[in-house]
Amino acid sequence: MTEIQPAVFAQLIASLGLAALVALAYSAILRSPLREAYRSPLAGLLFGMAAIASMMNPIVFAPGLLIDSRGVMVALSAPFGGWIAGVVTTVTASAFRYLEGGMGAVAGSFGILGCGLSGIVFARLSSGRRRTGHFVVLGIFAATFQILGFFVLPLDIATTLVEAFAFPLSAINIAGVIIVGSFLRWEETRVTAMRQMQNAARTDWLTQLSNRRRLEEIARALQDRRAKGSRLAAVLFDIDRFKQVNDSYGHPAGDAILSSFASRLRENTRKVDDVLRYGGEEFVVLMRDSDLDQATRFAERVRAEIEAMTTVYGTDRIRITVSAGVACTPAATSPSALEKLLKDADQALYRAKKEGRNRVVATKNSAAAPAA
Ligand code: GH3
Ligand code: MG
Ligand code: MG
Repeated sequence: MTEIQPAVFAQLIASLGLAALVALAYSAILRSPLREAYRSPLAGLLFGMAAIASMMNPIVFAPGLLIDSRGVMVALSAPFGGWIAGVVTTVTASAFRYLEGGMGAVAGSFGILGCGLSGIVFARLSSGRRRTGHFVVLGIFAATFQILGFFVLPLDIATTLVEAFAFPLSAINIAGVIIVGSFLRWEETRVTAMRQMQNAARTDWLTQLSNRRRLEEIARALQDRRAKGSRLAAVLFDIDRFKQVNDSYGHPAGDAILSSFASRLRENTRKVDDVLRYGGEEFVVLMRDSDLDQATRFAERVRAEIEAMTTVYGTDRIRITVSAGVACTPAATSPSALEKLLKDADQALYRAKKEGRNRVVATKNSAAAPAA
């Protein structure tokens, strides 16, 4: 076997640095607010660039024995970025290798193609599992395809290359896929955990609706889209004499009522509407692009459904009613416009309560919504 140069270690460390950079950039793509459709090609470009970077900085095991971790980057692209990423990486990296030219141009491109295909097939078959054992299999695939690529060359050259490269190439690919794959997996786990925590922080545990924190997000979004603020209606619901429900049937029964009320709200709203538990027995629905009339009709439909609804809790059959205040703004352009909208809805709700409950009151001072 050829004697290993000390510089090899420095180059291995540099490869690890590249792996860490790829993991960081991949994490940034995962965390970005980009649409899913853009994420996969972007991840593909990232892995493609990483493959090119590793081709430009090969590890020199011995004079004439140059190996790089292109196969690692190409093979991992589809399992982490999806099949589109896999295709983008494979095309980018193999085109680069082909254009670089030299005797190994075709063999190199063929090897990259094989690595990319094995990544895509692996992603399909492993269906998202990324245990170390899976990485070993993927590493073996990546090495095998690169070795097979040698056979594009005349047989005597191919066999000489296999003798020299088979072992280090397999070692680099298997170890590389395990190391880079683990980096990527950690980042993925971290981003998922962060998402779950963010979701939990803005979700009400009892009703699974958003909580008030969601309002802050909506307010921020309004600020970002300041220029084209759209029509927004708010309906504020408050269950009537809910304290009595708790007193008569117990707190757990009250909780069950809150859950079924939340389900009714969800069933009656569109995907674009925001449904929030605003407080104890108060709920807000923010309706995009809706005017006072539409919002009032919606509130009335919910009010009537709730009046007709019976919640069975143990041996109790519980009936409730709900009051609603409706307000609307022609252009929700800032957090303060949202605040004003909710204040208007609250005032309307106050009137609904004062006028005898189980009714919907639309605010009088909402600006008239312009025709769509
Ligand atoms: P009104 O018609 O004026 O709205 O009367 P109300 O009794 O509904 O209003 P009030 O604000 O006096 O009481 C609200 C009650 O809601 C008091 C509180 O115990 C109850 N509540 C708040 N959060 C929860 C909860 O999570 N579960 C249960 N079971 N009750 C809750
Ligand atoms: Mg209340
Ligand atoms: Mg109430």
